[in-house]
Amino acid sequence: EKTPVTLLGLGAMGTELARTWLSAGHPLTVWNRTPARAAALAAEGAEVAGSAADAVAANTLVVVCLLDDASVDEALDGADLAGKDLVNLITGTPAQARARAEWARARGARYLDGGMMAVPPMIGVPEAGGYVFYSGSREVFEQHRETLAVPVGTTYVGEDAGFAALYDVALLSAMYGMSAGIAHAFALIRKEDIDPASLAPLLTDWLVAMAPSAHLTAEQLRSGDYTKGVVSRLAMQVAGTPTFLGTAEQQGVSTELLSPYFELMRRRLAGGGGDEDLTGVVDLLVR
Ligand code: NDP
Repeated sequence: EKTPVTLLGLGAMGTELARTWLSAGHPLTVWNRTPARAAALAAEGAEVAGSAADAVAANTLVVVCLLDDASVDEALDGADLAGKDLVNLITGTPAQARARAEWARARGARYLDGGMMAVPPMIGVPEAGGYVFYSGSREVFEQHRETLAVPVGTTYVGEDAGFAALYDVALLSAMYGMSAGIAHAFALIRKEDIDPASLAPLLTDWLVAMAPSAHLTAEQLRSGDYTKGVVSRLAMQVAGTPTFLGTAEQQGVSTELLSPYFELMRRRLAGGGGDEDLTGVVDLLVR
């Protein structure tokens, strides 16, 4: 007996979620603002509700995969949430998730927030490694764990409803730092007779080799001793920054992505962090 699921939102992500629940044999009720997007799923066995309120009324487990926090207000305005288990997968801020948890509680629903670490092609493909961070009601997570794990992996990160969003944004923020670095690297070779495709594997291998430095950073933050296990001293790294800025200059490349980080490194060095690694930058960012 598979748990019946209500799913609101049949965009790129919602459609993939719907397919995996259907093919795993879960009875599924769907609703989408633009009804045409539900047609294919109806043919695959989904029940299509005429309104979000009807979809919510159909099942206890209600999964929301709309665009953003505002669209949740719009869609669920007027729906009776009493006794429901609301699982909200939209990407939002921790404050939005906490407010939504309160909002759900006031309407008699249990609440679980989710942050999706996956893109549509990873849904229903376990070997792709995608997963969803969940936080909020542990009871909801435990009760629906198997159902939630059908489309993509699950990682529960605590009772604070804001934590899933926080972990999600932390990982994606790190990703943007990486993307910025990749953009700068390609810019450096752009005017040369170098095939970008020859740089790509070197870049990815280097980034993969350096990524575990996050473990050392964590160890140092934990112990409070930022000189522990240092591999490349900050003083040495700051001394090297003119090489990076000069190379950018020579290649006709803007330093606007690199400079803010170098500025933080210099500030930490000026504050006496020469024997540390780069961990002190964390404290300069925290206000
Ligand atoms: P899409 O843009 O593909 O779909 C958005 C969905 O939200 C559609 O079903 C749309 O309905 C609905 N919607 C938008 N505004 C409203 C509204 N005011 N009232 C009712 N319904 C509304 O988005 P995705 O499926 O890609 O993303 C869904 C969520 O997942 C987002 O929060 C996104 O940040 C997050 N996410 C997306 C990833 C991705 O790679 N796509 C990866 C990780 C997270 P309609 O069809 O009527 O327009």
